[in-house]
Amino acid sequence: MEQTLTIIKPDAVAAGNAARILALLEEKGFRIRAIRMMRLSEAQAREFYAVHRERPFYESLVRFMTSGPVIPAVLERENAVAALREAIGATDPAEAAEGTVRKRFAESKERNAIHASDSVENAWREARFFFSEADLLGTAP
Ligand code: GDP
Repeated sequence: MEQTLTIIKPDAVAAGNAARILALLEEKGFRIRAIRMMRLSEAQAREFYAVHRERPFYESLVRFMTSGPVIPAVLERENAVAALREAIGATDPAEAAEGTVRKRFAESKERNAIHASDSVENAWREARFFFSEADLLGTAP
């Protein structure tokens, strides 16, 4: 078993698709091990996406991610990191495969409904970005 970190992004929460997306992921074998709803501060959004700070879309991404509530969650499954990346589809919904979350729910390359960690190491770091040790106590696979 492995864990990964997802975020239901502001576009999907505002559109009322959050529970539908989580249900779809549960159907694909992911189990929710921790979950919360919050509004990211500008500082939090800048820190979370710091790796993209030199990219032209960084300011817009920070504005988008702070535009409304998000739902971070720790998901568990066999091979969870790779399986979630596959389940969400390509960053740009125009390139996302049929049946993926982004193909079905993303509005654009930026407003693309969902985040998924890209490595086990980042999943661990991102889980601790959103959840306290107490939240995660007893959830390790
Ligand atoms: P991901 O791992 O598929 O989420 O993609 P990245 O890590 O490359 O980018 C992080 C997030 O930045 C994406 O999920 C999008 O919300 C946003 N993003 C990525 N590329 C672009 C782009 O070319 N333009 C805009 N406006 N946003 C982008």
